[in-house]
Amino acid sequence: MLKDILDKFYLDRQRDREQQHFYITDAGKCGRAIFFKFKNVPRAAMEPHILRMFDRGDYLQMQILNALFSTGVVRASEVVIPPQQLISGRADAIITLNNELYVVDFKSMNSMIFRTLEKAKEENINQLQLYLHYFKIPKGILLYINKDNLELKEFVIQYDPKLVKSLLEDLEVLKSKIDSNVVPDRLEDYPENWQCMYCQFKEICAMAGPKEVSWQDFKNKVESIKAINNGKAS
Ligand code: SF4
Repeated sequence: MLKDILDKFYLDRQRDREQQHFYITDAGKCGRAIFFKFKNVPRAAMEPHILRMFDRGDYLQMQILNALFSTGVVRASEVVIPPQQLISGRADAIITLNNELYVVDFKSMNSMIFRTLEKAKEENINQLQLYLHYFKIPKGILLYINKDNLELKEFVIQYDPKLVKSLLEDLEVLKSKIDSNVVPDRLEDYPENWQCMYCQFKEICAMAGPKEVSWQDFKNKVESIKAINNGKAS
């Protein structure tokens, strides 16, 4: 029935999003999870209702953007960063307030998380910092939207060149590991880190152990475990 058709639509669309290059949202995230995405390692399927929630967040953000357009402050929306080798990304909006430019990034979340939010989230700051860097704009705003009642919270962020340098260096190091087939270390605070809790590669990550490992050796190990299990099953 309709539910099955819709679930399939969301799951197929997710499958079409295999990663070929870095996105700005990767900045500061677990290198091992990004490595697995690049290598198309099968991931635990995301529930279709979660994918629909993401979609809902996108609609709310569009609604807020439309309202901002009406106020006349928006200079551009969905602004793609200048093309370069390492990373691609698209900022939600660039606006002018009191004759100053700001990059604006919207983030939506449920009431429970929204209520406890007292400062901008680190992963959102990382992303915004790269937009500030590539657009050469010194200030940005992270605008958080409560999906349940449309309350808003905002945080002004100043460009931090040191942080940007370290984020870009980390991505360069990760790129060389991807190119040379070296699976990066696990996160130091695995499995407590919030990224591990939502990670679609938890199972394969546990098999790879805590330290860097050759991708080829690891694949061979996984294949032999599979062969043993299949032998046991037959
Ligand atoms: S489980 Fe944690 S450490 Fe392992 S890949 Fe996922 S986010 Fe990274």
